Amino acid sequence: MTGEPQDDCLFCRIVAGTIPATIVRETETTVAFRDINPQAPTHVLVIPKAHHRDAAALAAAAPELAADVLRETQAVADEEKLESYRIVFNTGSGAGQTVWHAHAHVLGGRGLDWPPG
Ligand code: AMP
Ligand code: ZN
Repeated sequence: MTGEPQDDCLFCRIVAGTIPATIVRETETTVAFRDINPQAPTHVLVIPKAHHRDAAALAAAAPELAADVLRETQAVADEEKLESYRIVFNTGSGAGQTVWHAHAHVLGGRGLDWPPG
């Protein structure tokens, strides 16, 4: 069920601490950790602790939690001293989503092409 921890979800396991991650920030409702396969000098994932399959499901079920995630992307950018950065929510396998627990990619520390690939 949305919001409930899922045993087979990688990011729920990171929240539970049963899979290690390099955590850079944690709040009551969110965790931010470094992507294991970074695509930029700063590549941090911000996730809600509660399980929602993607950003749209998160926003529909828990709008305040979605706002917490967005606020945390700015906090990560501040800590990483990023003046410019990109927030990406890959949604659906055609867009590259591989983990079905909502997550914001925070990318920065290099020039970022637009439009993205
Ligand atoms: P997406 O493809 O948008 O679903 O993003 C999933 C991201 O999770 C990818 O950028 C992966 O590199 C990253 N990832 C997968 N496993 C781990 C892990 N154990 N710790 C940190 N990041 C991970
Ligand atoms: Zn999950």
